[in-house]
Amino acid sequence: MRIVVSGAAGFIGSHFCDRLLGEGHTVVALDNFLTGHPRNLAHLAGHAHFQFLDQDITRPFTIEGTVDCTVNLASPASPRDYLAHPIETLDVGSLGTHRMLSLALEKGARFLISSTSECYGDPQVHPQVEDYWGNVNPVGPRSCYDESKRFAEALTMAYHRTHGVRTNIARIFNTYGPRMKLDDGRVVPAFIDQALNGRPLTVSGDGSQTRSFCYVADMVDGLYRLMLSDERYPVNLGNPVEMTILEFAGHIRRFTGAASEIVFQPLPEDDPKQRRPDISKARAVLGWEPRVPFEEGLRLTVDYFRALPSRR
Ligand code: UDP
Repeated sequence: MRIVVSGAAGFIGSHFCDRLLGEGHTVVALDNFLTGHPRNLAHLAGHAHFQFLDQDITRPFTIEGTVDCTVNLASPASPRDYLAHPIETLDVGSLGTHRMLSLALEKGARFLISSTSECYGDPQVHPQVEDYWGNVNPVGPRSCYDESKRFAEALTMAYHRTHGVRTNIARIFNTYGPRMKLDDGRVVPAFIDQALNGRPLTVSGDGSQTRSFCYVADMVDGLYRLMLSDERYPVNLGNPVEMTILEFAGHIRRFTGAASEIVFQPLPEDDPKQRRPDISKARAVLGWEPRVPFEEGLRLTVDYFRALPSRR
């Protein structure tokens, strides 16, 4: 297939391009580098089946030739990034998604969008199942991301219902691995960077809030399976192994051998208290579940951050 991927220079986007090329597809990659980085795609320069276009998908664009599939992964995704770019985040989820859906319609292509566990907000149902409608503050600081993705889901369903576009919606839970940005503020790169530099680990609140971390190769496999499926309604993709942030800090200290102390900082506004995907649907519909053990994923991620030139 010839597949257009937006957000291709991002963390998940670049790994997804690798997977598509590995499966023998041709990739037309789009990114405007708002939060993605050229180094994530540098290894693909000159690849016969890979083409990169510096494109902001909120602006009009055309793609020459046939397209079999459009994959919309473009968006700031870390709280620090979307809080720094709230309007761009709302624009890419709305205008950007609309342009990618129009492209799919024009070309007769399938369409996959990466949505998010943030659709559930600060959830009152635990673990989160796809038919839970969520508990989102529509005017809080995180709303630029949450509502943008909720709108993107609604638009995707409207294109499917109105125009019959073959759409898929992935609700991505916390994902980690190589090519995360060291300074994107998320807990995985933040704690690893702090531990490798012997600085204190900055735990927000009392650290009792929970997250469930999925290794990026597992996430990409779930996305790939979903892209090939006929499931039109959202599917949770994430690792159901849940831990508190304080427990996570302990794992990072043990794993890196760092002597870093733990310091507590204020909990960000509307920070979800608990998060764990119910992946029964992904298991049943996609035959998918995460396979990479936490220790192995962490080792690969720590190795990546240790070797980053910017850290030397
Ligand atoms: N967090 C933390 N210390 C940090 C960064 C994040 O304790 O230096 C917490 C954050 O408050 C949240 C959890 O870790 O409860 C996960 O945050 P992250 O930004 O990675 O992603 P989120 O799941 O909130 O989108």
